[in-house]
Amino acid sequence: MRAVRLACAVVIAALLSYCVLVVLTQTHHFTQNTFVLVGIPQIVLLGACAACGLRARLVEGDRAAWAFMSAGLGSYALGSVLWQVVYEPRQDVPYPSLSDLLWLLMAPLSVVGIWLMLRSRLGNRASALLNGVVSGLGVASACALLVFPRVMGDNDGIPVGAVVTNLAYPLVDLGLASAAITAMVALRAWHRPAWLLLAGGYVAFTVADTWYLFLVLAGTFHHGGWNDASYLIAVALIALASAIPTEQATNEKQIRNLEFLIPVVSGLLPIGVLITSALHLVQASLLAVGLAVASLAAVAARTALAIREVVALSDARVLSRTDSLTGLPNRRALYDLLERDGVGPDWEVRGAVMIIDLDRFKEINDALGHQVGDELLRQVADRLSGQVPAPGAIARLGGDEFAVHLPATPREEAARAAAAMLAALSEPFLVAGTLLHVAGSIGITGLRPGNRVGRALAEADMAMYRAKTARTGFEVYDDSQDSSAWDRLAMVEALRLALDRNQLTLAFQPIVDARTRRARSVEALVRWTDPERGFVPPDTFLPLAEHAGLMPALTRRVLDLAFDEALRLHQFGYGIAVSVNLSASDLLDRRLEQELAQRLHARELPASAVKIEITESLLVDRNGRAGDFLMAMRELGIELLVDDFGTGYSSMAYLHDLPVSTLKIDRSFTSRLSADPRTGVIVASTIDMAHRLGLSVVAEGVETEAELDWLRAEGCDLIQGYLISRPVPAAELHAWLDAQGGPAAEAGPPGLSAQRGRSSTSQPG
Ligand code: C2E
Ligand code: CA
Ligand code: CA
Repeated sequence: MRAVRLACAVVIAALLSYCVLVVLTQTHHFTQNTFVLVGIPQIVLLGACAACGLRARLVEGDRAAWAFMSAGLGSYALGSVLWQVVYEPRQDVPYPSLSDLLWLLMAPLSVVGIWLMLRSRLGNRASALLNGVVSGLGVASACALLVFPRVMGDNDGIPVGAVVTNLAYPLVDLGLASAAITAMVALRAWHRPAWLLLAGGYVAFTVADTWYLFLVLAGTFHHGGWNDASYLIAVALIALASAIPTEQATNEKQIRNLEFLIPVVSGLLPIGVLITSALHLVQASLLAVGLAVASLAAVAARTALAIREVVALSDARVLSRTDSLTGLPNRRALYDLLERDGVGPDWEVRGAVMIIDLDRFKEINDALGHQVGDELLRQVADRLSGQVPAPGAIARLGGDEFAVHLPATPREEAARAAAAMLAALSEPFLVAGTLLHVAGSIGITGLRPGNRVGRALAEADMAMYRAKTARTGFEVYDDSQDSSAWDRLAMVEALRLALDRNQLTLAFQPIVDARTRRARSVEALVRWTDPERGFVPPDTFLPLAEHAGLMPALTRRVLDLAFDEALRLHQFGYGIAVSVNLSASDLLDRRLEQELAQRLHARELPASAVKIEITESLLVDRNGRAGDFLMAMRELGIELLVDDFGTGYSSMAYLHDLPVSTLKIDRSFTSRLSADPRTGVIVASTIDMAHRLGLSVVAEGVETEAELDWLRAEGCDLIQGYLISRPVPAAELHAWLDAQGGPAAEAGPPGLSAQRGRSSTSQPG
């Protein structure tokens, strides 16, 4: 750009000195020599040519366009030199001369340049292009009206070639000026300096040429006057345009508001032309009338297009704001509604928002299919709509979630409306010949000043969540009760993201023989390190995942990783299984059994390579789905462990009927062993009774040698805890296993194995 600016500076300096000399000539009768007459204009022309050329060569963007501009100016400069050197001294100048051709050539070259700029910016926006055409033709018709009748006035005695050549100039200029204006208008660039300079430059060219024609016709033209200067000014404007960087995007909306004026204003020009010619105020040429008619045709086309755009826009607006299933307004429409009404002195006046969530919809949808689900939603929408008091509105947010906006409604009234809606929902729905019962939970919040719409909806959502968990039907948002829900909400979102991006990993903790301390299996424990929160313990995020419905995805991710690790351990010959924890919702997940089998099959793993841990409290419901799941696991041959044993109030006798192989005594017992003698009694009798029932026992959370000694003495089979190893990443686990004596090595004497170095490990694989 600096080079371009330098060339521009030369152009301006030459132009200014030329103007000063013109003034001097007129006031002080300064005699112009060849340098002034030819040299300075050539500096301006070549400088401008160089500016555009440098712009094309050195600056990104519009390169081809500026190259054409530069070529146009170069052609013009060449024509001038030729004129001065060859034709000027001669008497018989041919029409057209080579100079004429070179001068005229500038117009098409520049038009190509303008067209290139237009094309790269406009793409195929018909309406914008039409705007430009309307304006360009309007201006052209006005120019034609003013210029042509006189130029064509009396041509008697002038050779045809001369007439044609002379006429070619204003015609070509007209084309050039209207092209520049067309482009400027089409690009809505009338406020951009670069386009103003460019269009101004080409319009100035037209003015200069026309002026020249008038001067010649009047016989008053002479070289070195202001007319010559006007050409140079035009050239300088174009040069200056090249020194302005390619424009950035501007405020579209502001410009759009002005845009409708374009057809109106430019429509006035051709109308004026037609009226003038109809009234015979000026003798209008055919060209002027033709251009005016063409311009009006373009206005008509532009108007038709505008109407089409408006219709399409309003259709799209309606569609984009309606829920296609129920015909209710959608989330976006609701946002607009709330934003319009949402700011006011207090929510009693400004109204309330509520969110309604159906309670058992997912079950129905899964069991009876989407068609039934959709029909049910339609009926629910109808019924709820009937319960919304007068100025209120209901929208479907998606899924089985609806929102209601009650303007100018106090809290008690909103609560009454909520109760009425719940009552309406409690009546059964008849769908596809089946009577269906659905219940709903409603959360209510107020629209307070400064409360953004998103926040209001989130508040209603939290209140709804509270209503759902407490089974109270509806709840009003309460800061003191729901504020910690904000953090939960944010964490759920972060977890959702981590799941999407596969950012959850596993740590593995060995479960070892209480006597030999050799690993018998490893437990897979999920790990999440959030970029903002750092390490988040599973006890914190797993309940959230369960509530937010993320557990299916989380479990599948864990299973993939755990089974991959099981495969590695299997292939390396370690001969130890990986046990995976399942959660409450996993036991209800009908697809899980099949997926477990598929995962084994895909890796060609024996069922003994994996185990499953289920918390004791979940086993109580053994007649329900959990029972089915346990039986399916037994059929698959996957061993089951009862996790956290001792915390879930189940009895030993009861466990006897279940297909479990191992009890894991909860670590709260282990940690109390030394402090509380009664715990010792409980643990010892638990171990004893488990053995009588044919179950083995793992003690969790063993942290000290003393605990280990005690447990071993009581006959505990297996132990797990920080004493042996913390949960570690897979690579560390392998190192740890190798240090123990390597894959499938025979157990060494107890106590010794842990001291064996890596040197004794055999190669995996
Ligand atoms: P859990 O199944 O009882 O897992 C054992 C927990 O005890 C792990 O905590 C482990 O790091 C910790 N632990 C092991 N040895 C010791 C010790 O010597 N002292 C102490 N104080 N703690 C010890 P973690 O990893 O925080 O996991 C917590 C719970 O999260 C697990 O309890 C399990 O119920 C659940 N969980 C972990 N991973 C998964 C998973 O992938 N899926 C599901 N559904 N639940 C998981
Ligand atoms: Ca466990
Ligand atoms: Ca446990």
